[in-house]
Amino acid sequence: MNLNEIMVSETSGETVEETRVAPIENPVLKLMRKDRMPHIWCPGCGIGTAVNCLSRALDSSGLDLDKVSIVSGIGCSGRVAGYMDLDSFHTTHGRAIPFATGLLLSNPELKVIVFSGDGDLFAIGGNHFLHAARRNQDMLVVCVNNYTYGMTGGQVAPTTPLKSTQSTMPYGNFEEPLNLPQLAEAAGATYVARWTVFHVRQLVKAIKEGLEHKGFAFIEILSPCPTLYLRRNKLGDGVDQVRYFKEHSVLKNGAETREVALKAACPISVGKFVERQAPCWTDVRNAQLSAALGERFASSGGKHGGN
Ligand code: SF4
Repeated sequence: MNLNEIMVSETSGETVEETRVAPIENPVLKLMRKDRMPHIWCPGCGIGTAVNCLSRALDSSGLDLDKVSIVSGIGCSGRVAGYMDLDSFHTTHGRAIPFATGLLLSNPELKVIVFSGDGDLFAIGGNHFLHAARRNQDMLVVCVNNYTYGMTGGQVAPTTPLKSTQSTMPYGNFEEPLNLPQLAEAAGATYVARWTVFHVRQLVKAIKEGLEHKGFAFIEILSPCPTLYLRRNKLGDGVDQVRYFKEHSVLKNGAETREVALKAACPISVGKFVERQAPCWTDVRNAQLSAALGERFASSGGKHGGN
């Protein structure tokens, strides 16, 4: 926005009209713990873009931020919770989802976001992911998938593409990677989407939808790790990878999740794959205990867990 101001020149005494640009509030900075800066992420890493999108989605969501909690596990993406000026929890490796479940059980009014990496959520934390999705727990899980364990040195992850070189796969990965959207849907997630850090507008919209969704929402974000994954596989820098995402992504809203596996030399399917309504864990629990226990459930805190 431009502001026109009538100024009186100090030298000539004449009035002059001057146009100044009003400062625009950065919607991201106000959600950051500025005392924690500078952050630890490498130049060209995509995690900052993912955080930018998360912050913009939160800022425009209309949610009461005093009732939003963010939980991360361990790893480069696991540092996100510590940088967000929310009620944030940096938990142990793979345990972000059970920690988030505990938050929900103790205070069902919270909107809980789990934000972590592919290694954390789908290797050591894979079991927890399955059961939270199966229960349709009312939370948003955002996974930054950079195909590797970043912080711990570039070991092979459950999402590492076939034949890619990793510190623990020096002759190329021979394990089939997980198709995360298919896994999420099969386990019971009721919202599933995939975008890349190139698709910032779509990602902001998806995160807002995930925040509004009642039940287990899962968003996969493909993101470059230039320091370990790209360098080791001679795939250029972060900009090269974002350009790759731009040129090789194909919008496939509503696609069958079994069709969206990431494969070398195939387009990257992006979009919203699943959105359906189903009772979440607390609804089912409350209905069943109310029916079984009646007044006893109500008087023992029947509101507990109802959202
Ligand atoms: Fe990002 Fe990779 Fe650096 Fe971790 S090691 S901050 S994932 S570029």
